[in-house]
Amino acid sequence: MVDIASHPFHIKGNRLNFCDLATDSMEKNCPFCQIIIGEKPADFVYQDESLVVFKDIHPHAPIHLLIVPREHIRSLNDVKEKDKDTLYKMIMKAKEMAEEHAIAESGYRLVFNVEGGGGQVIFHLHLHFLGGW
Ligand code: 5GP
Ligand code: ZN
Repeated sequence: MVDIASHPFHIKGNRLNFCDLATDSMEKNCPFCQIIIGEKPADFVYQDESLVVFKDIHPHAPIHLLIVPREHIRSLNDVKEKDKDTLYKMIMKAKEMAEEHAIAESGYRLVFNVEGGGGQVIFHLHLHFLGGW
């Protein structure tokens, strides 16, 4: 849990906001931002300064991981030039996950659902990693 008392506040627009030190870009009502700051539990398999990987709560494959940038980006439609390193890291992490799970050779599937029509229900960019069939 975040210790609110020990955190500073800041002004964003004309509103006073709680400012989490590590995740200034978080969206308060976003389930993945809540997982990233530890407000909501998840089964993490990897974390670093730019992304986290945790198991999907309703897996659609024997191995179903979500590769998620720490920064709150709504969907692939919102990805900008400045995010290219993050996207690259997400895809490279997927490759690593495949090797770690010994399914690189046999194969796996990577999916970005983009907006409602593409099946996206959590509006925080994530890459589905599916495999192990
Ligand atoms: P989307 O359809 O947005 O691309 O996929 C969102 C995925 O997040 C779904 O596969 C869903 O099962 C998963 N998910 C939704 N809420 C949670 C959660 O609180 N924890 C975890 N671990 N996965 C979640
Ligand atoms: Zn978010």
